[in-house]
Amino acid sequence: SLMITDECINCDVCEPECPNGAISQGDEIYVIDHNLCTECVGHYDVPQCIEVCPVDCILTGIEETKDQLQEKYELITGQA
Ligand code: SF4
Ligand code: SF4
Repeated sequence: SLMITDECINCDVCEPECPNGAISQGDEIYVIDHNLCTECVGHYDVPQCIEVCPVDCILTGIEETKDQLQEKYELITGQA
């Protein structure tokens, strides 16, 4: 899953773009829920939040394989 660094300017552009509802406003900056972020696997070829973030503050948080991300996608969408 991805993570948001403290470079985040709280612009709220990424939140509506996430197909898994994994992004929300945290205490200081926006945050990504590890359990919901599939790095957009299952929905898009590239992470949508990275595509739209104006300050490039979204990086890999916890490394996962494509298979693990696909598994998470199936769990979230009830296809497992
Ligand atoms: Fe949501 Fe995709 Fe960004 Fe993960 S990579 S937080 S699933 S938009
Ligand atoms: Fe923060 Fe980037 Fe999301 Fe804007 S798009 S809220 S700067 S992570």
